[in-house]
Amino acid sequence: MIDLKRNSKKEPVKATGIRSRKSSFYTPNQTTDFKISRGRFSNFLACKRCFYLDRVKGLDAPGMPGWTLNETTDLLLKKEFDHCRETQTAHRLFAPNGLSHVVPYEHPEIDNWRDSLHHGLMLRHKNTHIILTGGVDDIWQDTNTQQLIVVDYKSQAKNGRVDKQDYLNDRYHDGYKIQMDFYAYLLSGMGFDVHSTCYFLVCNAKRDEDGFHKTMSFDEYLVPYTWNIDWIENKVDEMVSLMNQHEIPEPNESCKNCAYSDQYAQAVKQNANKENPNIQGSLFS
Ligand code: SF4
Repeated sequence: MIDLKRNSKKEPVKATGIRSRKSSFYTPNQTTDFKISRGRFSNFLACKRCFYLDRVKGLDAPGMPGWTLNETTDLLLKKEFDHCRETQTAHRLFAPNGLSHVVPYEHPEIDNWRDSLHHGLMLRHKNTHIILTGGVDDIWQDTNTQQLIVVDYKSQAKNGRVDKQDYLNDRYHDGYKIQMDFYAYLLSGMGFDVHSTCYFLVCNAKRDEDGFHKTMSFDEYLVPYTWNIDWIENKVDEMVSLMNQHEIPEPNESCKNCAYSDQYAQAVKQNANKENPNIQGSLFS
């Protein structure tokens, strides 16, 4: 996608491709704390090269516009659950899902834990300077066992009903499970007793209504998932060793962005000539 760099007045300015704040990226073997979010960890799993170029070399990758409709369902759900948190009552979805004994968890840090941009759950990785972070959508509590339940809101628009098993088996949702595993890992590492089942609260917009009429209707589903954190520590170890090395790792061969860059470089190089030497970037010089 095309992403233009803009200043605070939203005017286009020259893009450099590099982050300007040195503190936003990592120097191999640095001795001050550095945060790695759940999203960056997922990037590491998807492509070690992109992760390294971003976190260690400071490359400023093109971004994506916000998902404002999805964010709105999150925001409105948060209001509903916060009301139940204040009153310590079960949310309307709990009884029909056999969760009458569950309430939204009340904790002084809950707003920080949900703030993925500035805070989130936080856990130092072993004795390193890497702090792992992750902003959860919500945490509920089983009032019988006092265990905490990790929750993630998901909005989508798909024809028909959502089958819970199909939802979990969908390869496109593998990343969602990684996300849950990671949150459970952080929360357990912070010393909390975490329930083995977490939930995706899936809001599915109905596409078969007869018109818009200023309203979009949703079905809601609680999809239970049994998290697994056994694999995470080794992967984080691998990630930290990668951050401390100086070689740039291999790319992911399935990535369309790299394939596009390759084709782009070849196409533009063929067109470069003496009359037109100032093609943006030095890739072709
Ligand atoms: S393969 Fe894709 S994700 Fe990896 S470095 Fe290239 S553009 Fe980035």
